[in-house]
Amino acid sequence: MNIHEYQAKEVLKGYGVRIQEGIVASSPEEAHEAAVKLNAQTGTSWFVIKAQIHAGGRGKGEVKETGSRGVVLAKKLEDVKEKSAAILGGTLVTIQTGAEGKKVNKVLIAEDVYYPGASEPKEYYMSILLDRATGSNVIMASTEGGMDIEEVAEHHPEKIIKEWIDPKVGLQGFQARKVAFKLGLTGTAHKEMVKFIGSLYAAYVGTDSSQFEINPVLKTSDDKILAVDAKVNVDDNALYRQPKLAELRDLAEEDPLEVEAGESGLNYVKLDGNVGCMVNGAGLAMATMDMIKLSGGEPANFLDVGGGANATTVEAGFRIILKDPNVKAILINVFGGIVRCDRIANGVVEAYKSIGDIRVPIIVRLQGTNAAEGAKIIDDSGLKVFSAITLKEAAERVKAAL
Ligand code: GDP
Ligand code: MN
Repeated sequence: MNIHEYQAKEVLKGYGVRIQEGIVASSPEEAHEAAVKLNAQTGTSWFVIKAQIHAGGRGKGEVKETGSRGVVLAKKLEDVKEKSAAILGGTLVTIQTGAEGKKVNKVLIAEDVYYPGASEPKEYYMSILLDRATGSNVIMASTEGGMDIEEVAEHHPEKIIKEWIDPKVGLQGFQARKVAFKLGLTGTAHKEMVKFIGSLYAAYVGTDSSQFEINPVLKTSDDKILAVDAKVNVDDNALYRQPKLAELRDLAEEDPLEVEAGESGLNYVKLDGNVGCMVNGAGLAMATMDMIKLSGGEPANFLDVGGGANATTVEAGFRIILKDPNVKAILINVFGGIVRCDRIANGVVEAYKSIGDIRVPIIVRLQGTNAAEGAKIIDDSGLKVFSAITLKEAAERVKAAL
């Protein structure tokens, strides 16, 4: 689960991570009030207005309706309201949102932390994530902050520092010092960075996150180290024991069909193709998607209805797949192990009748217990549903339907 920057910063602050302070706002008036409050709190007279969407690249992104960037600087309190109005309610398109962009419902009014001083402010990159290959956590850091890290990884892999942390032992002091040293930091900035890494790692573990990305981490002109941006990805499987984090979920940022599927207990991921599929078991779902590709189609989704599929789950799955206008055919591929094929066949027929007005052909492949009975129920139903028993037959049916 992703959370917004403003939420992530609050969470990090709770673990002692220094952040660029800010106040969230939902209207231009609130944005103005937030700036007044922030000025009283921090003394800042320059303000950064930051669109809150679940996607990065906001600084370079553009609001379709107004041409404003997704992150803008206001050097006067009086400008905050107008500059926020050019972002709020608009559609922000960034390199990560796709051409359709994302609607901005909130902005974060943040203090300017790039103020001049004894040294130049400098941006760094830092992330913490789970390295499945080694079964440990890894801190990645770079002096090339503020930029697209994928690009740095591709062209200058030597500029990415990696430090693996054994989850049983936790982060050791020498490891944090090593990272700060490799980033070229000395004196106060070095000490600050060691502290920053320590609190950040504690936050990563404490929140059951699978990924943290702080880009940029800023060294201010007076040698403070703080998080200017924060991308936090919490492991969905841990949400049951992270009720406070679970509350931060913003459904408006998620695909509506995926939200609906989640409510029905279905594992659904929307894809771009034209063949909808409904399968029981993730492995079979993957194999079915391969088969759809072999037959010349493209999967429109991944949908695992789970082991105990019944008429209700089949109907919920149907309804979700049918809401995708790209779907030209639906392939149901169910193995009757826990559930019998004739029950699934009846479920399909019932769901079909209950939804009505289905305009795309449906190919049903049932294999396992009572497969022949299941096929007969489908064939006798009089509906535009075709049965198949082997994978090859199913693939041919899909091909014919496209
Ligand atoms: P992203 O583009 O979605 O990753 O958003 P970020 O939070 O990383 O902000 C984008 C850029 O805005 C940063 O890389 C900075 O260059 C700039 N920025 C952020 N905060 C400040 C600030 O306080 N002052 C100034 N001058 N620029 C800032
Ligand atoms: Mn960023």
